[in-house]
Amino acid sequence: MKEHCSHRTDCLKMIQLILDGEATEQQLARLKVNLESCKPCIEMYHLEKEVKELLTKRMEKKCCPDQLVATIKSKILSFS
Ligand SMILES: [Zn+2]
Repeated sequence: MKEHCSHRTDCLKMIQLILDGEATEQQLARLKVNLESCKPCIEMYHLEKEVKELLTKRMEKKCCPDQLVATIKSKILSFS
């Protein structure tokens, strides 16, 4: 297991592609090999994944259009 990554920029790019669901089969296979031998990249992968999940959750929470529309409508009505 490598303690230091000599191709960190490449790894990060690939990790982001995969988390965005835009990586090709070939890229996926390459990253898998990388992640098995490269400690910093494993950590980076988990960190990126966590951040992405957090962002997704926050977006889902924010996005409840029906309730939002109802709230805005009632506010407009209370002003008129
Ligand atoms: Zn790496």
